[in-house]
Amino acid sequence: MSDKIITELLKKVNYPGFSRDIVSFGLVHDTKLEKEKAFVKLEINSGDPTLPTKLKEDIEKILLSDSAIKDVEVLIAVKKQSANNQTQESGENTAILPGVKKIVAIASGKGGVGKSTMAVNLACAVEQIVQKDTSSNFKVGLMDCDVYGPSVPLLIGASGQPQALGENLIAPVESYGVKVMSMGLLVDEETPVVWRGPMVMKTIQQFAGNVEWGELDILFIDLPPGTGDAQLSLAQTMPLDGVVIVTTPQKAAVDVARRGARMFEKVNVPILGVIENMSFLLNEETNEKSYLFGQGGGPTTAQALSTAFLGEIPIHEEIRMGGDHGIPITKSNPDHYASEAICSVAKEIIELLG
Ligand code: ADP
Repeated sequence: MSDKIITELLKKVNYPGFSRDIVSFGLVHDTKLEKEKAFVKLEINSGDPTLPTKLKEDIEKILLSDSAIKDVEVLIAVKKQSANNQTQESGENTAILPGVKKIVAIASGKGGVGKSTMAVNLACAVEQIVQKDTSSNFKVGLMDCDVYGPSVPLLIGASGQPQALGENLIAPVESYGVKVMSMGLLVDEETPVVWRGPMVMKTIQQFAGNVEWGELDILFIDLPPGTGDAQLSLAQTMPLDGVVIVTTPQKAAVDVARRGARMFEKVNVPILGVIENMSFLLNEETNEKSYLFGQGGGPTTAQALSTAFLGEIPIHEEIRMGGDHGIPITKSNPDHYASEAICSVAKEIIELLG
């Protein structure tokens, strides 16, 4: 019996709370079989203190079910993350994106809440704010991991094929001073992308490793909507400094946003705060606000997650048009009240990142 059989057996152990097994998540770092004793080394990235015990139990149960294994030793290394500096102990993730100072994911529980619109406008706003305030050469990147619907290139007006820099290295394209990489730049617009879970994970890992981002002060990551394996995989793969949750005010969106956010808590990625998008429609003549999708969803979500409420972004035709034409409103009309609302959120994110 070889070590390979241990790996095969470990493929039956799911990461607690997920349908994916610990081998395909890349958590198993070493296996060995000596006489009748199996050794397993795992590396996880979670703040949940119950997780190692649960994993250990599950692994022991599966391995001991094989008659060739009489004893099991499981070693679990837990990588710790904090808002400012994480995964330094392993050195692994810092090597994936060595020139990137801060990485912030933009997430949502469900699609259509304006996650990508916020990601694009925040990237533009952050670049603008820091450049204006410090006249420094502040560099912002935006990685579109929403492989199911990679809309970032359209929203930010990025076009053209990314340049190949070598066998396995591509250069991001630049738009409005933001370095952009997206699956949408690599595949034909007409080609439907049918991804299965493992492909999503692979793509994300390739994105992380094969894009020449250079020096970046902040890299925003537009995550696929939802709270499944792709998001967990990303949180495991990259040294995220935090995640920003986008929701709309209505109850259905709030419930999923909350569930999604819990997943980030599980893998110990700090939740920087909640943005409520499409909060209200302003009648510019009377100054009256209409709350089309109800009220209070954002603050309620933030409170439930014990995190900051970063602000409410109005519904405005110019935001939608900015997306349709590839000119984010924060660039086309920075003095607009919607742009100001987005900039205020961007400022808060900069502050939270320290
Ligand atoms: P998601 O990434 O969550 O799927 P998108 O960012 O693609 O959502 O936005 C969905 C649609 O809603 C887009 O057409 C976008 O232009 C529009 N949209 C997003 N936020 C706003 C807003 N605050 N006001 C008006 N339209 C918006």
